[in-house]
Amino acid sequence: MLGVRYDSEKHRLTVILKGFRCSWDQCIFCCFSEEAAKNYRDLIETDLEILRQAGKILGQREVRELVLFNGGSFFELPYQIVLRLSELTAHRDLAVETRPEFLSEGAVLETLQLLKPSKLTLRVGLESASEKIRVRFRKGINDVQIKELINLRGKLRRKAEDRVRFIAYILFGVEGVTEASVKRSVNFFRRYLDGVTAIKYRRYKAGMPRETHPSQKLLEFLRTSCEEVDMTESELWEITARRK
Ligand code: SF4
Repeated sequence: MLGVRYDSEKHRLTVILKGFRCSWDQCIFCCFSEEAAKNYRDLIETDLEILRQAGKILGQREVRELVLFNGGSFFELPYQIVLRLSELTAHRDLAVETRPEFLSEGAVLETLQLLKPSKLTLRVGLESASEKIRVRFRKGINDVQIKELINLRGKLRRKAEDRVRFIAYILFGVEGVTEASVKRSVNFFRRYLDGVTAIKYRRYKAGMPRETHPSQKLLEFLRTSCEEVDMTESELWEITARRK
């Protein structure tokens, strides 16, 4: 789903922009690229309209948190869109998604300077603490990159104090990933980053890994250990691909 969605309970505005195909675009569980822009004009026109709608809601409702998705990494968005976004983000909590290779001390500090959020949450799709599982998912993130991410968080804590947070996404309910392994991932990322969002895997089409049903025990564990457990049932997860 592209567009905006306001959650009046959490006072959260979710903005889903159109992006170009993710530069990695190889994870075997992902089909966000089916919603990607066909060309630069398509992206700019669509995103400026979505940001206009977001600006309207920001003018009318109390928004404590702005969550931005673009079907890839925030740092892949054209500068024109980031500049327009900067008119909406000052003095608000902002969350964006990114792959770790786009993150550096300079990139994060410049983002703080340009967007001026009260807090910046960097949500990084790591999926699992196990490199073996990430390889199976074709995630393209190795253990060295995870260590670098943890080090970067340490450096930024010293420079930006608690203005920057790193949250790991982990996947559950997917074949080949045991519940014990999901728990290990949650415990690992909670220890070394600022928290975890657990995402229930959703199979969009044949050829993708199968879904498994999480036990009540696992769900209870996730609800008490994670910042958020996303069961991927909301319209936010509807994309152009048809489920099979
Ligand atoms: S990095 Fe994210 S957007 Fe890119 S293919 Fe993997 S899951 Fe999809």
